[in-house]
Amino acid sequence: MNLVDINTLFGTEEKCRELLVRLRWPEGPRCLRCKMPVVRLETEKQLFYCKDCDYQFSVTTGTVFNDTHLPLTKWFLVTHLLCEAKKGMSALQIKRTVGMAYKTAWYLCHRIRHAMTQTDKPMLDGKVEMDVTYVGGWNRNKGQIGKFDNKEVVIGIRKRNGDLRFFHAHDAKSGTLARYIRENISEDVDVIFTDDHMANLAAMRKAGRKNHKTINHSSGVYVMGDIHTNTVESAFSLLKRGIAGTWHRISAKHLPAYLEEMEFRFNRRNRSDLFLDTLRHMVTSSSLTFQELTA
Ligand SMILES: [Zn+2]
Repeated sequence: MNLVDINTLFGTEEKCRELLVRLRWPEGPRCLRCKMPVVRLETEKQLFYCKDCDYQFSVTTGTVFNDTHLPLTKWFLVTHLLCEAKKGMSALQIKRTVGMAYKTAWYLCHRIRHAMTQTDKPMLDGKVEMDVTYVGGWNRNKGQIGKFDNKEVVIGIRKRNGDLRFFHAHDAKSGTLARYIRENISEDVDVIFTDDHMANLAAMRKAGRKNHKTINHSSGVYVMGDIHTNTVESAFSLLKRGIAGTWHRISAKHLPAYLEEMEFRFNRRNRSDLFLDTLRHMVTSSSLTFQELTA
């Protein structure tokens, strides 16, 4: 689906609402409170009414769309833009492209991103790569010692030919790495590939994962047969280009949400229903108020 299709298929509020209803309730609309079937009221806003508990609501009630003043057609356009932009898109760019206030664009992007965080994350198995990278912060004059002082730690775990996970971690010590291994990598994983950093070796021991192979980055070797961490590193490079080129400066507070957005899009990169799947997440997600976001 391209921008012209979106504009043709979902060019009116009514068409947008119809799609959201189908995505939210594939078997027909149900009451949000008592789950009973409801009737559609003949109103401009397409409200639903539940006779059983006397409750009135719309398809967007309780979701990230909750209380929005923005036309759904604009929501749809921005969702499409975020789905298509591999490295993400800044609120400033959205402001210019779609035509809205910066603050509106910023809040809108965060709500779409919020919906993208609400996914199932099965344990990874097969051949899994794990690596650590550092983002943000600039310590130009501190030399090697202070290099990572105000940078944020991102842990990447990726199943080859499969899913990616990004995490914003407090540090890259072995205990922290072991926790992410236990929480994300299946006990019957075939093999875990990392570089030969000491923390990785200790982390595998602590997490009780024995099938571990390392590549000697410390002696300048990057690939040995199928032993490498190149596929997780290519995901890191996409993330870094996204941060450098589109988001400019991300606060540590919002970093986890940006990571989730990158992960969501990356794991669906070959799916033709990415746009619909994103909308499905949006219309089944919880709400996110401006106060919650800026607290
Ligand atoms: Zn009800």
